[in-house]
Amino acid sequence: MSDEKDGKHNEGSQFKAPMNGQSHVKKLIAVVSGKGGVGKSLITALLAVLVNRKGYKTAILDADITGPSIPKAFGLHEKAAGTDNVITPVRTKTGISIMSLNLLLEHETDPVVWRGPLIAGAVKQFWTDVVWGNIDFMFLDMPPGTGDVPLTVFQSLPVTGIVVVTSPQELVGKIVEKAVNMASMMHIPVLGVVENMSYYVCPTCGTKQYIFGESHADVVAESHGIHTLCRLPIRQDLAKAVDGGAVESLQENGLDGLVNTILA
Ligand code: ADP
Ligand code: MG
Repeated sequence: MSDEKDGKHNEGSQFKAPMNGQSHVKKLIAVVSGKGGVGKSLITALLAVLVNRKGYKTAILDADITGPSIPKAFGLHEKAAGTDNVITPVRTKTGISIMSLNLLLEHETDPVVWRGPLIAGAVKQFWTDVVWGNIDFMFLDMPPGTGDVPLTVFQSLPVTGIVVVTSPQELVGKIVEKAVNMASMMHIPVLGVVENMSYYVCPTCGTKQYIFGESHADVVAESHGIHTLCRLPIRQDLAKAVDGGAVESLQENGLDGLVNTILA
């Protein structure tokens, strides 16, 4: 049984989509979540900002094709330039290279009404056809869940590590374990778990309030042998920055442990 499982998922590199000759990515890190709305895009953007600040060449491939929110987090409204064969990523103020379907759509509010294979194909094309140049760390803002599209993306892109973003309710519902198990089936290491919206600090009395219930993140992390666990509170400045295009101006040290693991 386990042989069959391994045989099915342990694809060799010959099945991976090749990059073009003008792109080289050293580390490809996928940011996943069990469901939408838990802060996956915020964490993807923040990780890229923090790694970029350390002086590494950093990029984000927005693989959440039907819910692209990376351009907005960086305040990008220009279109990506492209010819028939190649597309050039858009660079943020601090020099992070970004590709997202929203940078190609004529109107940012156009809905993407595509079925799974086309969506997975678009992600693959962002990997193969975009002229990324030399990148030290590329972050993938993955579609939420463990469905068909994330599975295809994992099978066709050479992901080197996974970051799982979750919220306290999700951990109770065990959704996050599915994401962790999927990573393990694909033989991709989980670099860390981020419990987002973990608590709220009352601005008047300073006490921590566990709005979504007490955390279970450490139990989940421990049971899967994941050593890096970060918790981010619900904070207005985080929401304001990511919704207002100013994620690069955020000062945030709650992810330092994870950044160290990523850079290790
Ligand atoms: P996802 O990519 O998982 O769908 P987002 O990163 O888009 O989630 O976050 C969903 C919403 O929640 C956004 O409007 C964002 O500003 C807000 N948000 C996420 N994390 C926090 C946080 N720690 N504190 C306050 N607001 C947050
Ligand atoms: Mg998102």
